[in-house]
Amino acid sequence: MNGMPRIDYNKTPFVLIWETTQACDLTCRHCRAAAQPNHHPGELTTEEGEDLLRQAAELGTPIFILSGGDPLKRADLFHLIRYGADLKMRMATVPAATPLLTEDVVRKLKESGLSQMAQSVDFPRAELHDSFRGVPGAFARSMQAIEWAHKYHLPVQINTTLCGQSAPYLEDMVNLVQRLGIVFWEVFFLVPMGRGVDLGGLTAAQCEEIFAVLYRVQKNSRFLVKVTEAPHYRRYVAQCEMEEKAEPRRPHGPVDDLPSQLIRTEGPGHSIGLAVQGVNSGQGFAFVSHTGDVYPSGFLPASAGNLREHRLKSMYQDSELFRQLRRPHEFKGVCGICEFNKICGGSRSRAFALTGDYLESDPWCVYRPATKSIAGKGAASSPA
Ligand code: SF4
Repeated sequence: MNGMPRIDYNKTPFVLIWETTQACDLTCRHCRAAAQPNHHPGELTTEEGEDLLRQAAELGTPIFILSGGDPLKRADLFHLIRYGADLKMRMATVPAATPLLTEDVVRKLKESGLSQMAQSVDFPRAELHDSFRGVPGAFARSMQAIEWAHKYHLPVQINTTLCGQSAPYLEDMVNLVQRLGIVFWEVFFLVPMGRGVDLGGLTAAQCEEIFAVLYRVQKNSRFLVKVTEAPHYRRYVAQCEMEEKAEPRRPHGPVDDLPSQLIRTEGPGHSIGLAVQGVNSGQGFAFVSHTGDVYPSGFLPASAGNLREHRLKSMYQDSELFRQLRRPHEFKGVCGICEFNKICGGSRSRAFALTGDYLESDPWCVYRPATKSIAGKGAASSPA
């Protein structure tokens, strides 16, 4: 695929993630899925998975991610990858770093038509990472899997979760990922849910410091940097670009287009790119649970229904839940009146996790819109 086209997010998810199973032999401290060793008896079957892949392809979804749990716990993983690739979707997966992840498995992932394999690496050192993931040897296994992926020319993505525990090691993580020959670095900002409620969160000010590091890395690296559950990174980058053009960091009106640094539609070697428009919960994105429930995000426990009863198309396009999330001007608090809300909108998942209302403002953002540009809406003055 040469680049990513502009997509109408009212009709089509840019990315669809299917949590193929909750089964996993790791016990990661931040696990959204609260994974466990055994399969849930109500997990979607192979035929139901094929149907989901067909429905996603019919909607025009370009990127389909098979997540978990550990996707390698499913015997039909290679079949599902081939099935999705034959439907012309870019297929990606994130196998857990356990003894199930062997060289033979990595070779078969490539042969099945996988476009990109992700490995989760949260800390730059083995002892820290293994303690976070709950299994000794997880770091070494991930490093080994990355080598195998290079051997079989399978593009590699690293997923890193930033929270109070991992953020202090960010510069060392940057040094590590720059040595690993990856095409894509996905940085997740913690949403305190599942086992993650016990982890240390970040402050809005810390997020800005982290954004500065990620922006520097993004400008100076061949691999793509994708930020997940911190869409205000797009506001940060837009403000940096305004400053570079000697424009005010606080715009006079709504900002409609993503900053140019974020429009990189392909990674090295034609690997998976970034969306041309900002993706957020329910806006270019949908998540399907292991039992078929459809959510706007894997971190936002509000469902539009189940695949066993409704079509993906109707839930994504027509449910009030998804439609509401595509109307950022109706969000509450500062996110609703922010000049950047079309390209940002705040993390709806974090708003829900920390306030109980997914339409509330994202508490981890420092930005305050200009009062004078938002007559009658009563915005606070800005520290940003
Ligand atoms: S106030 Fe909300 S919409 Fe505006 S930049 Fe912050 S998180 Fe994004």
